[in-house]
Amino acid sequence: MTFNGLWATKTDDAISVALARLEDDQLMDGDVTVAVDYSTVNYKDGLAVTGKGAIIRKFPLIPGIDFAGTVESSRNPGFKPGDRVVLNGFELSMTHHGGYAQRARVPAEWLVKLPDSISAKDAMAIGTAGYTAMLSVLALEHGGITPDRGPVLVTGASGGVGSISVALLSKLGYRVIASTGRVQEADYLKRLGAAEIIDRASLSEPGAPIAKPKWAGAIDSCGGHTLANVLAQTDYRGTVTACGLADSMELPGSMAPFILRNVTLAGIDSVNAPQSVRSVAWTRLATDLDLGKLETTVQEIGLAEVPQVAAAILEGKVRGRTLVDVN
Ligand code: NDP
Repeated sequence: MTFNGLWATKTDDAISVALARLEDDQLMDGDVTVAVDYSTVNYKDGLAVTGKGAIIRKFPLIPGIDFAGTVESSRNPGFKPGDRVVLNGFELSMTHHGGYAQRARVPAEWLVKLPDSISAKDAMAIGTAGYTAMLSVLALEHGGITPDRGPVLVTGASGGVGSISVALLSKLGYRVIASTGRVQEADYLKRLGAAEIIDRASLSEPGAPIAKPKWAGAIDSCGGHTLANVLAQTDYRGTVTACGLADSMELPGSMAPFILRNVTLAGIDSVNAPQSVRSVAWTRLATDLDLGKLETTVQEIGLAEVPQVAAAILEGKVRGRTLVDVN
């Protein structure tokens, strides 16, 4: 059987990614074969497809860090043909073929069955960015940040993790402050549920080690001075989650928020999260995300347009989520 997919190859130091007709026997080992419906473009896909980050470690490879689809065949008793499944992370697009193809073969333990109310298309409108947003909300809850504790800040608010964090938090009753470099997107962010918009420039320069508290918690996808300033302005016993490095990989901050305000910095990793955590996150997404609002965050593209969007996401030019219809 043949199928369409993006095929990443490497010559010398350059990566090239092109649409190709692939054979079934080019799929890698795995006990479940999936007919893929949709994948997405996340920031990590931008790094992988452009070659600006050393994400792909084995060539040639089908990129794409996530997919949703339907099980075609399975050698694992936990899955049967017709099951609707989602996969976020693990080795996809690193050492194992990913989601930018019509077919995928993967180890069963990487897959999560989709809740009935979430279609494959919804699952990828949510994508790894949305699932990471949910992991971040769970971490805030774990830190005891309830809506009555005060507002919650979301940085990189117009991006994938940011947009879905705003939508989730507002549905859960939090007052959401959205930080963005695109203040022209204020209406979009307010429609998603933001109560207040701040310019990300107010957080991106070196700041005081500790400052007037402005939020009970925060979901940060930027790192760098942004994260250091977010920590400095977090209220007593607040929690800040850190999943991303859209600003920087550095954390040029102070100990002051931790030892004077008892602030917790909670790291978020979606790639190797255990199955129990993934299942909770997808179950909560089924109830806590307004799928109508989600639609406003999504643009849909085909496989051939992925390289162009991959470059744009690294430049911070992509709003919300990009769904890839692989068929
Ligand atoms: P997006 O590109 O969709 O969103 C990132 C947003 O950050 C941009 O839209 C922009 O929002 C803001 N931004 C961009 N550049 C800068 C800058 N220089 N300084 C401050 N803010 C900036 O990416 P995703 O939402 O897909 O991912 C966000 C981050 O989270 C990435 O670093 C990604 O690698 C990471 N991530 C980590 C995961 C994990 O498991 N730990 C999983 C998923 C994502 P605005 O214009 O509104 O300011």
